[in-house]
Amino acid sequence: MRNLNGLLFGVLAMLLLSACAGLGQESLLIPEETEIELGAEYHLQILEEMPELVGDPAIKAYVNGMGQYIASITDRANLTWHFTVLDAEEINAFAVPGGYLYVTVGLLRAASSGAEIAGVIAHEIGHVTARHGVQSMETYVFAEGISDLLGDEDLGPLVAGAIQAGAGLTFSQDQELEADSLGVGYAIDAGYNPWGIVHFFETLQELEGTPRGGEDDVLSFLDDLGELFSTHPPTDERIANVKVLIAKEGVAESDGSLAWETDTDLVTIQLLLPEPVARIE
Ligand SMILES: [Zn+2]
Repeated sequence: MRNLNGLLFGVLAMLLLSACAGLGQESLLIPEETEIELGAEYHLQILEEMPELVGDPAIKAYVNGMGQYIASITDRANLTWHFTVLDAEEINAFAVPGGYLYVTVGLLRAASSGAEIAGVIAHEIGHVTARHGVQSMETYVFAEGISDLLGDEDLGPLVAGAIQAGAGLTFSQDQELEADSLGVGYAIDAGYNPWGIVHFFETLQELEGTPRGGEDDVLSFLDDLGELFSTHPPTDERIANVKVLIAKEGVAESDGSLAWETDTDLVTIQLLLPEPVARIE
């Protein structure tokens, strides 16, 4: 994690200087160029901890094709987007700043339609377009940084905290709601039935039984990268909120003009996934 740490020290110094100058949190802003650099460093770190799937190229092409198309219709189409399938059985998806987005094999296996995958990807794209990762980082540094700096503290924990904030481990409920709202809009604009998001959240609830996790959980960057399931399980309230968002768009579950599948049915991709029983986690 040396490179990410090094880069973050620079970012923190910049943010702390603006904070100390009394500019206030609204003035703290990580430039896009730095955001992309951060994303590239996160990406290397993530692949060290959780390798990319080495499997049939059609799996990668399916996720990348879907992701690139949805990203291309957002207001951050200018970013170079990276969609990576991680070789992990846990059901998860997450994004880090700069346009780096991840879904696991477990997620591809658990979904029942392409619209579910598209909905999840659209939600994660929403976190990036709304700059939630860097916003959380800025908020964290503003809240924690001044006292650490003035108190002659070891800045290591501050860097670790900022890394977690940037990776979405401390997203607020407002940020989740915004990503859900953006995700519903993006899914519809890309031609997918947004009810896929509801279906997937319901599947997660069924698989999980009762929702777990919470705001106060102590999370390690290495142990728990994902935000979709682990830190913010889909509660009944969140599912109800998504239904309200979809209703506002006037889309019925049975809407025939929106797709449940891409040109390649999800089931075709699922048949190409590695056999779970033969794998050691
Ligand atoms: Zn989220």
